[in-house]
This record gives sequence, C-alpha cells and structure tokens, in this order.
Amino acid sequence: MTHSKILRVAVDVPLSRLFDYLPPANAPLPPVGARVRVPFGRRRLTGLVVEHAARSELPSAKLKRADAGLDDAALLSADDLSLLSFASDYYHHPLGEVVAAALPLALRTGRPLYSASEQIVLTLGPDTDLDALARRAPRQAALLALLTEQAPAPVDADTLNRLLAGWRRPAQALRDKGLVRFETAPAEDRPDRVQTIAGPDLNADQAAAVDAVRGTDGFGAFVLDGVTGSGKTEVYLRLIETALNADRQVLVLVPEIGLTPQLVSRFEKRLGFKPAALHSSLSDSERHTAWRRARNATARLLVGTRSAVFTPMPKLGLVIVDEEHDHSFKQQESLRYSARDLAVIRAKRRNVPVVLGSATPTLEVLRQCEEGHYRRLRLPTRAGGAQPPSLRLVDLSRQVATDGISEPLCRAIETQLESGGQTLLFLNRRGYAPTLICSNCGFVAECHRCDARMTVHARHNELRCHHCGARRPIDTQCPKCTGTMRPLGEGTERLEQRLAERFPDARTLRIDSDSMQKKGAMETALAEARSGRANILVGTQMLSKGHHFPALSLVGIVNADQGLFGSDFRSAERLAQSIVQVAGRAGREQKPGTVLIQTAFPEHPFWARLLEAGYPGIAKDALAERRLAGWPPYTRLALLRASAHRRQDAAACLEFARAHLTELRYEELRVLGPVDAPLARKAGRYRLQLLLQSTRRNVLHAALSSLEPRLAESKTARRARWSIDVDPIQLF
Ligand code: ADP
Ligand code: ZN
Repeated sequence: MTHSKILRVAVDVPLSRLFDYLPPANAPLPPVGARVRVPFGRRRLTGLVVEHAARSELPSAKLKRADAGLDDAALLSADDLSLLSFASDYYHHPLGEVVAAALPLALRTGRPLYSASEQIVLTLGPDTDLDALARRAPRQAALLALLTEQAPAPVDADTLNRLLAGWRRPAQALRDKGLVRFETAPAEDRPDRVQTIAGPDLNADQAAAVDAVRGTDGFGAFVLDGVTGSGKTEVYLRLIETALNADRQVLVLVPEIGLTPQLVSRFEKRLGFKPAALHSSLSDSERHTAWRRARNATARLLVGTRSAVFTPMPKLGLVIVDEEHDHSFKQQESLRYSARDLAVIRAKRRNVPVVLGSATPTLEVLRQCEEGHYRRLRLPTRAGGAQPPSLRLVDLSRQVATDGISEPLCRAIETQLESGGQTLLFLNRRGYAPTLICSNCGFVAECHRCDARMTVHARHNELRCHHCGARRPIDTQCPKCTGTMRPLGEGTERLEQRLAERFPDARTLRIDSDSMQKKGAMETALAEARSGRANILVGTQMLSKGHHFPALSLVGIVNADQGLFGSDFRSAERLAQSIVQVAGRAGREQKPGTVLIQTAFPEHPFWARLLEAGYPGIAKDALAERRLAGWPPYTRLALLRASAHRRQDAAACLEFARAHLTELRYEELRVLGPVDAPLARKAGRYRLQLLLQSTRRNVLHAALSSLEPRLAESKTARRARWSIDVDPIQLF
C-alpha cells in the first residue's frame, strides 16, 4: 500500500536530520531522488526525497503531508545521493544543505528541470548594412554582433541579461525591423558531437602517463606531477578523447574562473564541441542548462569549479582535477568540503580513473603516492623544447628597495623593455601599503571591528580593512600624538605607481581584485597580457595561476619573506608552491625565463634548498618534518571554530566541547585549545578555535559524531556560532 509510505526528506536547513512527510495526496509517490514541496514551519520549502520508509517515529497526528512532487523521475540517482551523503557524514554537515549545494539555484527553488525559455533568434538578411547601423544605433549593433557570434544558436534572455544590460529595447527595435525574432523554446538538449583534431605527438613521458591511465581497468588514482609547461593539458586531452570514444562523460575540475576560458577554448578546438561549463560567473539559467545537460549525458565534457564535483553524470568515465594544490578546491564556509578529495571518492565509487595534475602536488597527495594508494606520473621537462626558468635571489639586506623594487630588479625590467620581453611582478598584497604608521610615535591605524591593520588604498584616499570591508578616510595626523602618518610596506598599487615613475613609457597593467572588479575586466586584461601589448604586469595570485603569456620572460617576486617565518606548518609548502607556480609563467616559449626573488634573508636554508632541489626537495623535507612533528598528512585534523560578540560566549562553547571530548576518553585523540583564532576578532565577533588531532581518521570521526548533536542541543553552545572543519587547510 503506497499510502502508508513515509517520505524521508532532506530539507535545506541547518539541522542534521531528515524530515518525515506523508506523500502528496492524489498523486503518484515521488521517487527517491526527486524533489517535493513541503510545509516547514510557516514556510514552504523544496526538499529532496532520500528514502521511503514504512513508518515514522513521529505520532501520525503530527505528520504533515507534502504539497506536491516536483519531478516525475529521480533528479539524483542512487549514486549521486550516496556521494552527497558521504560528504554529509565526512564533513559533519546537514544532508539538506549538502543537497542544496549540489543543485543549481533554479532547481533548489523548485523550477522544473525542463522549462520553456525566452530566446532571441537572428533572422538577419545578407544585405543589412551593419556599419550604418553601428553609427545610428550602437546598442542595436552591439546586440546584433553578440547574436551573430552565437548564430545559428539562439541566445536566451537570461544570458543576454548577463552579457548586455538593457538589451530588451534594442532587441525590440531590431524585431520591428525584421532582423531578429523572439521565441519561446522548450528546453531540448542536443548531444555534443565529438570531432577531434590531432594534437602534437606526445613525448615519451607524456606517452607513458597516458598509457598508465589507459591501461587501468576501473578505478585508479594518478598524480600527474609535471613541471609548469610540461604538457599536462595535452595528457588530459588524450585521456578525454579515449573516454569520449568509449561513449563516456568526463568531469574536469579547475580552480578558478579566470582560468576556465583559456582551457575551455583549447578543449573546444581539439574536441570539436563546446564543453559544458559550471562556474560562478554564469547566469542561473546557464548553470541550470549545463547541469541538466550533464545529467542527461548530452554534455560529454563538463569543466567546472569546486561545486561541479556534485553534478550528476550518468556516463562518467574519467575525472580530472587540474592544479590539485589550489586552495580554492576547499570550500572555506558552510559545507567545508575538498572538491579534490571528493573527486577521488567519486571516481572510486564509480570505478573510473581520476587524474590529479599539478607542478606542485600537495604533501597530502604525495603521501598517498608514498603509501601506494595513488600512482605518481612524472613529466620532468617542459614540452616543446622550452627551458625551465632560472631562479636568482636579490639580497634586500644589502640593496635598498624604493617602493618595494630594488635596483637589480629595475635593471632587469629595463633589459626586458629594451628587448621586447614582458615582465611580471608578483606581490600577494593589494592596495598601496599594508600599514599606515605614525612616523613619530609608531601608532598604527587599525580596524575598529577586527584585530587587523587597515590597508592604505591611495587611489581612493581610503583605509580599508581586508577582513570586514570597513572603510574610512586616511588619517593624515596621528590621533595619539599628531605626528605625520606614513604608509609602510607596499602593495600592488604602490608598485604600479613606482613603475609609472621609473618607466613612464612602458605599458603597465595591474591585475588584482581591486582593478578587476568590472565585468569582463579580467578577460580584457588577460588578452592584453597574452598579446604582449602590456610590457609589465603587476599582480596578486590572480596572475600566478595557469596562465600562458608567450612574451613573458622575467618574473619578479617582490616580497617572498612573508611565508618564510609563517606560524602555520604549511608555510614552507605554500611558499614553495606559490613561487614555483608564478615562476612557471616565465619563458614558456622561445625566450628563456628568469625569476628574481627579493628577500631580506638570503641565508635562510629554504632558499638554498629551493634553488638546488626545486619543489620536490622542499616537499621531501617538509614531509620529513611533518612526520616528526605529527602534522598532516601523518595525522588527521578537525577544527571546531566558534565566534560570538562576547569572547566568553565563544570560549564557553569550546570549553563545553572540550569537556565532552575529554569524557569520551579516546586514547588516540588529542584536543588542543581553545585558543584565539589567527584573526581573533573579525567584524566585531571574537573568534576562537579548538583543534582535534588523531593518527586515526575513525577516531576523529567518532569524536565528531558524538560531539555534534551535543553541541546542537547545548544552550551554552547556542550562544556562539560554531562550525566543524574536517581536514582544515587554514589553521594558524
Ligand atoms: P601544462 O598544462 O603542463 O602547463 P601544456 O599542456 O599547456 O602544459 O603545454 C605547454 C606548451 O607545450 C603548450 O604550448 C603545448 O601546446 C605544448 N606542448 C605540449 N605537449 C607537447 C608535445 N608533445 N609536443 C610539442 N608541444 C607540446
Ligand atoms: Zn575590519
């Protein structure tokens, strides 16, 4: 009797449990994996049926009935659901919120999977005078150009909203002239047609890597450990072709959106179709379409950032994680998952290979290789004959640096300018200066709401807090002693100013999140950088990742010392990764690359090791140190964070947790803290943390499983905001 069935529903609320409902009246029973609309308190929410049950623990009088089923068939398969519930268990996060993270907004809010959409279709005849139109009605011409670019495919209204604000008026004018047509089209997905174009012949290392993956039956985890420019993408392409030819789908995860256009167009050129893409700068409808096409397998290749790891792909045959070391694969709020780790889990459950590519593999991944769980495939030389860049130190203890740039670095830039080469200056600090200090008494301008210094933004004549966004005018006088306030240290803005003074004829381009706020700014800037029109690039790590700038032959690392004495056990690994990655932008074509590293501590052993043995040497040392000190990857960590307006509330929450964990008496569990978080106060809230450490993952998870419901019920804990971070990457 289907009427006696109970639906167990995951609802997008911060509660770690499922909710029971009676099935909707007079309707077919919603299958497991389908969405239902349910009453929830005074609201109506969209939930997902996770189980059918015979009975509920709730008294029948309290059981409510679901309003309606939203899908005839399951939206998520049993496989998809099992990955989500794994993520929910592993990261100790409510399943309802995990499901929500896996669905595009349109589906989360109850829209149908297939729905009609408004589309604009080009009907342009051959004799339209575009030039004349451009003079009279530039907005109409812009719209026409956009439609022509996409033709014969129509463009939907949602995409136009994103690309061309205020497109409707010019579209109506064009319609009245008979140049375009408005249509309502039912969504119907056409399968991608694969038409591959041959790439370069693989070199021996690339061929060996491809063979290793192809030769694996079922699951296998591979680390493609290839220096920058070694042809990792070529290896991916061959493996993708193999999977596509076997009628399988491929999932490629990439760190950041800035990288995606280049990679996507390279894939498109070689495979003959446009890969489906999933990332944050798409419209909701584009995201919905890409998700749906992946789910019905008409999309053969999906390239996406972090959350794409959850996208249903019934024919999945290969998973690739490019730039595995990148931090953006770990979500730092709400569901704190690692997309890289989930990619491996997903591949394992689907019994397909997964490839993790990087020039600087994380120690976690290298350790898996040591243990024999992952297989390491090396590409030790650059493909296509380019030489590796050479690294040199500039001793800042003997050289004066004006606004951050030393004389040797200046001369090297000059040489580049004379020979037509491009320079990249890397400094992971935006703004003009990180500190405003009184030249008389040493008073430093701080944020009123955070335990942090204000950053000087000279162009806007403002002090800004990079943690909470607070802004105020620059103090000219010290509030303590009326001395003169001066900027101390340098950010990208200051470098840019200095370069303009020193090289007035050079074209300098600053790329950081301040200068790249406008839509499309990043694409324009990258195009200018690639073409070589920009002589000097100044940027934060936005500029260090994955890009290929053909003319770039000098990289200056302006301040490498921040990471040298970091308190985090990952400092050395991170510093080496960021230097090697940014250095890898240099000399990717004919011109050999030089990297100048400015440091006030040239004697620090880190440098000798990096220059002699490169990233592998640093990684080897760091692994040995971590083993001795008992840090990951040799132990497992979880971090319990708490914040509150009153410090004692956050502290009490963590003391409560600590007491509970102590009561458990797990021998192999260490509990450290509570201590202040590295940023002890942010936006007016005090932040503390408690670190859980164990050599055994099971112990850690048992402890968290026991702790979580206790915290959820505790009145003490409720006075603070708390969260659990499993495998945290930001600790100190
Ligand atoms: P990575 O992804 O490791 O940075 P890419 O795949 O982008 O490296 O390759 C770097 C450059 O070398 C690209 O211009 C690419 O076209 C070229 N390349 C890669 N493999 C080969 C090969 N086997 N022969 C010639 N050129 C190659
Ligand atoms: Zn602040």
